Amino acid sequence: MAGTKNEFDRDVVIVGGGASGLSAALFLSRYGLDALVFDRGTSAIEQCYCIENYLGLLGIRPETFLELGREHVRYEGGDVEDDMVVEVARLNASDEGSKDSNSLGGFRVSTQDGRDVTTRFVLAATAYDGDYLAELADGEFHDGGDHPVEADESGRTEIDGLYVAGWLSGGPHQVSIAAGHGGRVAKSLIEDLRKSRGYWDEVAQFWDWRVEVDKYGGDEWEGHVDDWIDGTIPDEEISAERIERVKAEIKEERLDFEISAAEREARLEASRELLREKLFEE
Ligand SMILES: Cc1cc2nc3c(=O)[nH]c(=O)nc-3n(C[C@H](O)[C@H](O)[C@H](O)COP(=O)(O)OP(=O)(O)OC[C@H]3O[C@@H](n4cnc5c(N)ncnc54)[C@H](O)[C@@H]3O)c2cc1C
Repeated sequence: MAGTKNEFDRDVVIVGGGASGLSAALFLSRYGLDALVFDRGTSAIEQCYCIENYLGLLGIRPETFLELGREHVRYEGGDVEDDMVVEVARLNASDEGSKDSNSLGGFRVSTQDGRDVTTRFVLAATAYDGDYLAELADGEFHDGGDHPVEADESGRTEIDGLYVAGWLSGGPHQVSIAAGHGGRVAKSLIEDLRKSRGYWDEVAQFWDWRVEVDKYGGDEWEGHVDDWIDGTIPDEEISAERIERVKAEIKEERLDFEISAAEREARLEASRELLREKLFEE
């Protein structure tokens, strides 16, 4: 599904490249959104001497853990840049940064190195620092506490297009939880985007997995998908045309979840190569 790039420089800017921000960037990039992570400073986990509680990793240096995350985001097509965000402001109709109409809202993200980037969505994942968000609600949004940004558990805030993940949202500590939360918040954003395009709750939330070639497709499979979608249609009135469009798009999306043996092997090899480079040789 296309992003929002016609209107903005980026679909989404993620502020903060710790476990939560990188995990969010990973999901967003995999969805096909043009995602940019700005990260400068020190992640909370860099105070730790050795991470010993991340599932599947008996022990890993925090710097290596973060580097693996950055490389994964890049592999999926996202960008990670060393820069500090100093302000996030809403775009408005008179803002020169808005290339086209202002129908989608959006933000201008300004950095320490003097960059201005327009974006439809901002996902804040900076653990302790929320000062750059203060302008969004005339200063009232940021109350100066450790976890200054009000967000619900899914990372949604009262500001359309602004999401908060990880420690900054006031969630529990530990990197695996931050990574999980980043993924969850990214999925909230994607769900909201899908809903804005006519999907309803149940069909908006399911995406991103892999199956082998030929698992999907064919009349019987199409029938199953149709039945599943029919069973999810909410009580509100939804036109037959919209239902047909969603069915067609969901089928196309699921067929894209198929990968060949060669594609799987290429990914496994890329994974081995990355681990060899970053983990085994340290
Ligand atoms: C001493 C200590 C030891 C810990 N040990 C463990 C442990 O052993 N195992 C474990 O699971 N958890 C541990 N934790 C907890 C873990 O560090 C956090 O739960 C986790 O790092 C939170 O992830 P996050 O992505 O929310 O924030 P962070 O990892 O802190 O990432 C936030 C990132 O945003 C960047 N940033 C901040 N402001 C800006 C800005 N304006 N613009 C751009 N970038 C910005 C920061 O530099 C940082 O890289 C420890 C924490 C501490 C303090």
